[in-house]
Amino acid sequence: MKRFKHLEAASVEEAVAALKEYGSGQVMAGGSDLMGCLKDNLWMESPEAVINLKTIPGLDEIRREDGGLHLGALATLTRISESATVRGGWPCLAEAARKTGSPLLRNMGTIAGNICQQNRCWYFRYPDKLGGRIDCVRKGGKRCLAVPGDHRYHSIFGAVKKCIAVNPSDTAPALVALDALVETDRRSIPIDAFFSAERGAVSTVLEHDEIVTSIFVPNQAAGTCGAFRKVAVRKSIDFALVNCAAVVTMENGVVKAARICLNGVHNNPYRCTASEEYLTGKALTQEAATEAGRLAVAAAKPLMLNSYKVPMAGTTVADTLMDCAKQA
Ligand SMILES: Cc1cc2nc3c(=O)[nH]c(=O)nc-3n(C[C@H](O)[C@H](O)[C@H](O)COP(=O)(O)OP(=O)(O)OC[C@H]3O[C@@H](n4cnc5c(N)ncnc54)[C@H](O)[C@@H]3O)c2cc1C
Ligand code: SF4
Repeated sequence: MKRFKHLEAASVEEAVAALKEYGSGQVMAGGSDLMGCLKDNLWMESPEAVINLKTIPGLDEIRREDGGLHLGALATLTRISESATVRGGWPCLAEAARKTGSPLLRNMGTIAGNICQQNRCWYFRYPDKLGGRIDCVRKGGKRCLAVPGDHRYHSIFGAVKKCIAVNPSDTAPALVALDALVETDRRSIPIDAFFSAERGAVSTVLEHDEIVTSIFVPNQAAGTCGAFRKVAVRKSIDFALVNCAAVVTMENGVVKAARICLNGVHNNPYRCTASEEYLTGKALTQEAATEAGRLAVAAAKPLMLNSYKVPMAGTTVADTLMDCAKQA
């Protein structure tokens, strides 16, 4: 790992000022993703400073407030998964947090770090001290190694700027399904506009000196139910091959509105809008859920080694919807 300055921010303003001062600086929350990135030297310009956010008081609050749920950026995944407030009002988010990584990672990992984490493509993450740096498109190089190489865990919905790495976050699809708002030191960003693999080595629309301060999750309308499912090789600790969150509002026995999001299948979390439209006005039966699952992956363009993900994603959407139906 290259040497860097370790700064302890006492306020959001101080952290933003430090990011402005150190153009290559990175903020750290739990550090469970950032430390791996530093160790493997992922950036073109190695960070001169790491700015610790955990020293900022009050940034880890979880509370119900007018109109919804306030999650401080530093709220850990363990606290979110165990919070009676979150479990009672927004159970799919609590479940997504509970299914992330291992207990140790959930104790360290924060909600903001979870949605800002880097992708896990093994060419991108390859440590440069082992046989030399692999400069793929996302690291400033000219080609993607995964397309002609081993892409068993990569996108089934094509590339963004020649890159087929997937967004690995477990909480991102739940926040998308719940239509959350990401609050930063300078603006509110609707979750649908937050993720942006188009920007290369970063996975969100955040400016370099911009910090997530909290996430707001609106109250759910009466008759709303939600569920989260994750499929991974090892249940105890692993990134999702595919995960899915669904939030469905029922009225008079039919679906009034639905938001469904897959992750682990594309560079950005993938809203299943065709499935949402199809379900509206229908009873949430097994037949309707299966058709919604089929529609969710109708536009898939899998590669040679990842076509198994297409039926897996379709079935996960259908199963998540049936979990919602059981609560309705
Ligand atoms: C072995 C292992 C298994 C894992 N399994 C999973 C898994 O199953 N599911 C999953 O989703 N993730 C998993 N992760 C990834 C990661 O640990 C989690 O996503 C965790 O929630 C990251 O949070 P953190 O607070 O530790 O982030 P950090 O490592 O501190 O930060 C991650 C990134 O977010 C940025 N960042 C952090 N906070 C802010 C902020 N407030 N504003 C702006 N930028 C910010 C940092 O600069 C950094 O780029 C795993 C990681 C490891 C090492
Ligand atoms: S998928 Fe993206 S991150 Fe992976 S090798 Fe290709 S360009 Fe790099």
